[in-house]
Amino acid sequence: MSRLLHESPAGVPTLQAELLLDARARLGEGPVWDAAEGCLWWVDILGESVHRTDPGSGRDRVFTVGQMIGAAALRASGGLVLAVQEGFLAMDASTGDLEMLAPVEKDNPVTRMNDGKVDPTGRFWAGTTAIDHRPGAGTLYRLDPDHGVTPALTQVTISNGLDWSVDGRTMYYIDTPTRRVDRFRFEASTGTISDPQPAVSIRAEAGDPDGMTLDAEGFLWVALWGGWGVERYAPDGRLDRRVEVPVAQASSCAFGGPDLDLLFITTARKDFPPEGFPDQPNAGSLFACRPGVRGRAPFRYAG
Ligand code: CA
Repeated sequence: MSRLLHESPAGVPTLQAELLLDARARLGEGPVWDAAEGCLWWVDILGESVHRTDPGSGRDRVFTVGQMIGAAALRASGGLVLAVQEGFLAMDASTGDLEMLAPVEKDNPVTRMNDGKVDPTGRFWAGTTAIDHRPGAGTLYRLDPDHGVTPALTQVTISNGLDWSVDGRTMYYIDTPTRRVDRFRFEASTGTISDPQPAVSIRAEAGDPDGMTLDAEGFLWVALWGGWGVERYAPDGRLDRRVEVPVAQASSCAFGGPDLDLLFITTARKDFPPEGFPDQPNAGSLFACRPGVRGRAPFRYAG
């Protein structure tokens, strides 16, 4: 695994994230704030589970999914929609009961679902990656409210963070090995993307871009796998701010809390030896900071 040094570039304001929940997940990912319940949902991909964390009490409930799960999102009708190895499932938020909505690459043992998010029109997007991350084996899918599945982008390698601009006209997307965030024109009426352009390039020493969220000002917060942190970028690609995390593998981030002013950060201990690394005992845990900017409430899947 990457053991890069974590020095903030000169002149970039830097904050420290603090431990919120000592969960030590194998591959924590996909945080999403549930304002109605006052909880944070997130997943452990390799732990095949969904976590429901109450940041006030520190109570953490774990739902076993029984297969690798890349992402979870809220449903407008209640409960969650999950992107798992076999496709899209619905999960009851009280019982954890699962129901298949749409199979995706179900008979393909090479791939699994990875990161996902709901767009401003209520469609759920999630992409696949080969489990061994072989190049070009992934696809970004769109799950419509009628449970129809459409491939939106093919030949990606590690389909990862995505989010939409404040005006809803742009989708930002990360295929990790490109070391970029790309922007696509997003057509809300049809749910289609077009005209990809580079938006942010991640410098070599900063780790690999993984999960992502946009704040209320339209700036991008990008979790840096192997980069010991999360960085905020302006839409023009300029590095604006950095959050240090005491774990190398920062995997994703999302705003939440009653005022949407907390940034939650998931991390991973994937590829660690069983005893862990002494310099990052809390790898895989949940971290948080208050970066002085508010986020936006997540959209809910309309199906
Ligand atoms: Ca990810």
